Amino acid sequence: MSEDDQASGENGAAGRLRDLPSVDAVCRTPEAQSLGAEVGAGRLTKLARSVIEHMRAEMRREKQSRGEVFDDGSSTPEQRRAFLLAEAARRLVRSERDDGARKMGRVINASGVILHTNLGRAPLAAEALGRLAEAAEGYCALEYDVNAGGRGRRGAAVEELLTEVTGAEAALVVNNCAAAAVLVLSTLARGGETIVSRGELVEIGGDFRVPDVMAQSGTRLVEVGTTNRTRASDYQNAINENTKLLLRVHPSNYRIVGFTAAPSLAELAEVAERANLPLYEDAGSGALVDLAAHGVAGEPVIGDSVANGADVVSFSGDKLLGGPQSGLIVGRRELIERLRREPLYRALRVDKLILSALEATLEIYARGDVFARVPALRALSATYSELERRVYALLERLPIAGAEESWLRAEIIPGSSAVGGGCAPTAELASPLIALTHRSLAAAALERRLRLSSRPPVVARVAADRVLLDLRTVAAGEEEQLRAALVDLNRPAF
Ligand SMILES: *Cc1c(COP(=O)(O)O)cnc(C)c1O
Repeated sequence: MSEDDQASGENGAAGRLRDLPSVDAVCRTPEAQSLGAEVGAGRLTKLARSVIEHMRAEMRREKQSRGEVFDDGSSTPEQRRAFLLAEAARRLVRSERDDGARKMGRVINASGVILHTNLGRAPLAAEALGRLAEAAEGYCALEYDVNAGGRGRRGAAVEELLTEVTGAEAALVVNNCAAAAVLVLSTLARGGETIVSRGELVEIGGDFRVPDVMAQSGTRLVEVGTTNRTRASDYQNAINENTKLLLRVHPSNYRIVGFTAAPSLAELAEVAERANLPLYEDAGSGALVDLAAHGVAGEPVIGDSVANGADVVSFSGDKLLGGPQSGLIVGRRELIERLRREPLYRALRVDKLILSALEATLEIYARGDVFARVPALRALSATYSELERRVYALLERLPIAGAEESWLRAEIIPGSSAVGGGCAPTAELASPLIALTHRSLAAAALERRLRLSSRPPVVARVAADRVLLDLRTVAAGEEEQLRAALVDLNRPAF
């Protein structure tokens, strides 16, 4: 007899330990069988063993506390064994789900934040996916000139496209915009001074701070002007024999309003030219096309920056451009070539996957149908009425809308989506939202269920004790999965 049985006897909590199913028995249940087909027999056994161990540990604790964790009211041993087997099978399936949720898997972004940095920023265009898969699957002409049959230049095609869509003389691609800033600052300004406005000493996402990046790049920061007002003459007066660069940083994630002044880029370019110094603009997101008509004003259009006299401009590939993570640098040929020759560039260069996705994305810009084909811009430009039609169509296919006896309830409320990715912080894109409530779950618990029990996990917002779903960031191809997740929540919750 085991110690547990001696301690509490046949009918005590610990006495039921022997009613626990064996790992084998759990693995033979229909739930386990279908899970096994997905994850393989080895993983299934491992999961089942861990589930049974957990249940045994809980029963032992139960013995001490006399709690009734596993008491479902069954009176006969057969009923009890059946209950424990069903509980083990249920936990087995859930443990694999919880495990899956820890992977960097696909999620449905119903948050309405288009460039959600935590969710991977911009989804790629179909063309970019195709090109990326092609490059991933086999070999590609990454640094190979097919015409000449010999070594070519990495990224040459992408660089050419970048000059085409921005009007710049030359271009270079690195890992992200932070890397671009480090490369530009350390190549053009190391050992000297860089002049920047006090209103532009930004912090992006907690780990990119302009003063720190400048220190890292070995250039001395010379601050001019004030937080709210800086003039071209402030830059002019700060120039001396140690000055190497004038820097303009786009204040991506905040706006200074009220009594403000900042010189235009063209005015700064004049100051730089008179002093024979390069002018560098870190545009952050920037955009390759003007988005003001779609509610996003104040983001620099890269072609305008080039036209207005910036000598070097850097921007992100995965913000409003809507491509893969990358840092794009365009500008005067002589300066871009200096960046390319810097040993640091070798450490920051991108791989064939990024370049192929970027190439396909930029080809869309070169063709001109960006709002139809680039998912981030498609989401950005979706109109209220277009989204409303999608919301109604989804709710119609749910057996819940309005029904009194329904566990899950949904109504449509007016709200707004956000650009995200630290850009256009004041842009509010009007969107119809689905507001969910549940008869036996508080909003926070409902939001948790959407994340943890839906496959793929659904990421939503909570406000005023309701869960809000925004279809602006849900792809049409994901709507059926979202619907299934909602149907699954339309029942009493335990
Ligand atoms: C976002 C941003 C960066 C960093 O870009 P990543 O591509 O995320 O590295 C740098 N500077 C500005 C102004 C930005 O907005």
